[in-house]
Amino acid sequence: LLELDGVRKTFGAHTVLRHVDLAVDEGECVVLIGASGSGKSTILRCINLLEEVDDGVVTFAGRDITDPRVDVDKVRAQMGVVFQAYNLFPHMSVLDNVTLAPVRVHKHDRAEARDAAMGMLERVGLAHKAKARPDDLSGGQQQRVAIARALVNSPRLMLLDEVTSALDPELVGEVLDLLGELKQEGVTMILNTHEMGFARSVADQVCFLDGGQIVERGAPEQVLDHSENPRLQQFLSRLL
Ligand code: ATP
Ligand code: MG
Repeated sequence: LLELDGVRKTFGAHTVLRHVDLAVDEGECVVLIGASGSGKSTILRCINLLEEVDDGVVTFAGRDITDPRVDVDKVRAQMGVVFQAYNLFPHMSVLDNVTLAPVRVHKHDRAEARDAAMGMLERVGLAHKAKARPDDLSGGQQQRVAIARALVNSPRLMLLDEVTSALDPELVGEVLDLLGELKQEGVTMILNTHEMGFARSVADQVCFLDGGQIVERGAPEQVLDHSENPRLQQFLSRLL
């Protein structure tokens, strides 16, 4: 579904990604791990075309999306993005938050969009909060709304950037459980997280980034338990 081939990204004189290769199959869950500044968010931003790559190719659903002729909005419409801060609109109800993009961006019929949004809120266990304001929800609930909002357009790929990092520890589980269920349902996702338990139980592929390069990759147990890379061992030991 997605392939990064020799992707390089620089900010001024600073090379942030160097020769990143990554292949993601349909239905796969890929977890990116690495120290702060290693380039995890930048990879997601390059995939979502929020950043232009300086070199290399990103292929999505069979198309080179780094080609300047691609319709960026069309590509983005096929990706669901969730960030660390949920970015819900505080002045709108939960339901309106989930309905907004289908109506405004995708020009869906309002009634249909509301039905779809309600269905998705049910899916994440929050139909009973449809009329509430985001501020009246817990952080975990808000993040589940943000996930519902990203899912409502049936994206082919979900990009999740540290979606549990801002949550109180007791709320992390409900969001990770939801992501695990989505994986079971065949949703393709790439996510950055420090939750190694999640990586271990859900990921098909774990990639360790160091200095803008994927230096270790493979099945979770292979990367997390059997790597001899000292940088990775140091990174993992700091998490405990
Ligand atoms: P964290 O775990 O802290 O979120 P990360 O692995 O997501 O880190 P990135 O946000 O991808 O790291 O950043 C990688 C490097 O790129 C960092 O050194 C950062 O300072 C730099 N960087 C990111 N965005 C920009 C930008 N817009 N302009 C300049 N430098 C940037
Ligand atoms: Mg980041």
